[in-house]
Amino acid sequence: MPKSLSALTKQAPEVDEVLDSIIAMVSAHFAAPIDPHKRAPMSEHDNLFLHNAAAVAAARLDFIHDKHFVDTLTGLPNRDCFERDVANDAAGLPERLAILIEPLTAVGMDRLVKALGLDCFVEFMLGVKHVLAAVLPGHARLYRAGTLSFAVLMEGGPEVDLPALIQRLTAALARPVHFQNVPVFADVGIGVLRIGPSAAPPADNVRLMASVTDTARRSEHRWLYYDATIDAHAQRSAMLLHSIESALLAPDQLRLEYQPRINLADKRCDSVEALLRWTHPVLGEIGPAEFIGLAETTAAIRHITSWVVRNVCKQIDAWRSQGLHLNVSLNVSSIDLTDGQLIDELTHSLAQFNLAPQCIELEFTESVLIPDFDAVQHQLMRLHQLGVAIAIDDFGSGYSNWRYLRDIPAKSVKLDRSLLVDLRPDTSNWHIVKGIISLARNLNLTVVAEGVETLLNYRLLRDWQCHQGQGYFFCKPLSPDALREWIAGGQAFAGRKE
Ligand code: C2E
Ligand code: MG
Ligand code: MG
Repeated sequence: MPKSLSALTKQAPEVDEVLDSIIAMVSAHFAAPIDPHKRAPMSEHDNLFLHNAAAVAAARLDFIHDKHFVDTLTGLPNRDCFERDVANDAAGLPERLAILIEPLTAVGMDRLVKALGLDCFVEFMLGVKHVLAAVLPGHARLYRAGTLSFAVLMEGGPEVDLPALIQRLTAALARPVHFQNVPVFADVGIGVLRIGPSAAPPADNVRLMASVTDTARRSEHRWLYYDATIDAHAQRSAMLLHSIESALLAPDQLRLEYQPRINLADKRCDSVEALLRWTHPVLGEIGPAEFIGLAETTAAIRHITSWVVRNVCKQIDAWRSQGLHLNVSLNVSSIDLTDGQLIDELTHSLAQFNLAPQCIELEFTESVLIPDFDAVQHQLMRLHQLGVAIAIDDFGSGYSNWRYLRDIPAKSVKLDRSLLVDLRPDTSNWHIVKGIISLARNLNLTVVAEGVETLLNYRLLRDWQCHQGQGYFFCKPLSPDALREWIAGGQAFAGRKE
């Protein structure tokens, strides 16, 4: 009876109703008021009835347990079960080890599913489960901790040779899992957490271990202990990513500063670069180098670029009404250039403020991560046809693909500021900067040197016929009003002794 009842409860949701009615009957049966007289012993029928009711309740509890604590794909206990076991075992046990094994990155999983389908991913995870189960010692408990991860909980006394154990795990996982004769290789990252005997175990141990797996993946042995610094960094990144959308809606968190681009031949300034600034309500000033990179990992970058486009056009219009006519370059990410959204938004904002497309330049950074070069090139061509200028930013900092100079309809190329560091005769930077200026000029590109910090830089670049310079030697990025005053005041650097 208990067995069949158990099966029944697992299959039929309406069994809850049966259970409810049994409980109601049991309650009614025994709910008679306490009386001083001895009652007759429970009948066989009542006894059986109670026994069955207990079996139904137990089966129901099993079902609820499975539903909450077992991963359906692997049949392993899940993350909730892992966290519960860590907390339950806390008292009295010696030091324990928690190990998080991530056999793939999210990007790796995405590629696998796109190339070979979801079944392949499922087979891969089952394959990894078998490998782990075979290598782990008998007393270790294995869990599925997340879509892409397994967790292990085991004793962690001095007798455990953790490096050797992990070496065996990584060696076993280095062998491919086969799916329809296709070998699928893991890209393992492992995070380890020591859980002390007396200390109250921290909550959310999986997250703590997960905070180091990416760094571990790039390390020599592919594993690392949980590190509060890496975790703090990961938490800050997560917090920033979460706050970007609200920052875009807040009136006082984001602002643009503008840095002059100076024509080296006559020291005039007729264009500026818009640079985004963020005052986070809790974390304070955040530099774009930190949050733009994060935003580029999500759709947030598209919203940021829309915000910048709107606000730059509004600013050009405001300056114009004050008698100041400036061209503005703004930074876009290659992700912004994979479809027509940017061109639509630009067209709309230019029309709204009645601006000529020529007053806008889009700076985009050469990137090895360009998702689809042909799509980007197509969008750049459309923007060029619209009349917007294109600049290749930070040229010389990465792989400096010459194809960019040839195939992109760019008007300018901006030399990365790292090229100006230590610019002395006969250093490689000396020859590279001089060479790129000459090459770019021959390709009819306007050459802009970034990071001009010294008089020497300025003189050299001018003598090498670099068209424009941008850097602290001339001016730091300024608020719109400060920039207007700087220009009205005759550009403080212009009268400097040469
Ligand atoms: P970038 O586009 O190459 O901008 C130039 C960066 O160099 C700016 O840093 C600027 O403040 C800094 N800089 C200018 N002159 C000097 C100098 O003489 N010495 C030194 N050491 N630095 C100088 P910032 O504002 O921190 O921006 C960093 C990067 O963040 C930008 O590099 C750009 O790639 C990105 N960024 C900034 N604003 C935006 C934006 O609105 N959208 C996007 N997608 N990216 C942005
Ligand atoms: Mg730029
Ligand atoms: Mg740059």
